Amino acid sequence: MSEYILSKEYFVQVIRDLIVLAENRKDYFTELDSAIGDGDHGMNLSIGFREVDKHIEEWKELSVKDLYKNVGTALLDKVGGSSGPLYGSFFMKFGLPIKKKGSEEGATFSEFIEMMETGVAIIKKRGKSTTGEKTMLDTFVPAVETLRAEYEGGTSAKEAMAKAVEAGKEGLESTRNIVATKGRAMRLGERAIGHLDPGAASAAEILEVFYNDMPD
Ligand SMILES: [Mg+2]
Repeated sequence: MSEYILSKEYFVQVIRDLIVLAENRKDYFTELDSAIGDGDHGMNLSIGFREVDKHIEEWKELSVKDLYKNVGTALLDKVGGSSGPLYGSFFMKFGLPIKKKGSEEGATFSEFIEMMETGVAIIKKRGKSTTGEKTMLDTFVPAVETLRAEYEGGTSAKEAMAKAVEAGKEGLESTRNIVATKGRAMRLGERAIGHLDPGAASAAEILEVFYNDMPD
C-alpha cells in the first residue's frame, strides 16, 4: 500500500477553512464561554484568524512548517485569554515533524499523526494540564490517541481521522460532567456541570476541518 500523502494544498485549505470556522462559529463559542467563563472565546478566535486571513495569500507560498508557524505566531501575538497561547503553540509546533523541506511538500499520514501529537503535547505542557480538567485536551487527547491506534491497526487514513473526530466529540460531551480545575470555570465549582467547555468545543470543530478537507 502506498503511503497516503496530504498535499501542501490540503494544509493551506485547512487554514482557509479555519478562518471561515472562526467567523461562522464566533457567536456559538462566545455563548458557551459566557455560560462558564468570560465570554471571549468566540471573539478571541475571530480576532486571531482575521489576522491570519490578512496574510494567507502571502504565507501560502511558504513550506507547511513555516505557514503553520506563522499562523501560530499570529494567534500568540493577537489573541488574549488562554486559548490564544494554547492554539498558538499548537500551530507553531505543528509542522515540526515534517521531514521534507521544500515549499511544495506536504506530509505523509504518519507525519500528520506526529504533527497532531506534537501540537497536543505542547498544549499539555503549556497548559500544565491533562484530560478530565474540562479543557480542549478532553477533545484533543482521545482524538490523537484514536488516530494513531486506528491507523496502526490498519484503518485507512481518512477513516482513522473520522474515528479520531468521533472520539474528540465524545471527549467534548464528557466535559459537561466535569467540574473545572483549570481556567476561569474553576471558580464556578459545581455550577459548571451541564456546560460544555468552549475550548473543547472549538477543538472538536477544528479537528472536523482537518477531516473534511482530507481527500478520500
Ligand atoms: Mg474566555
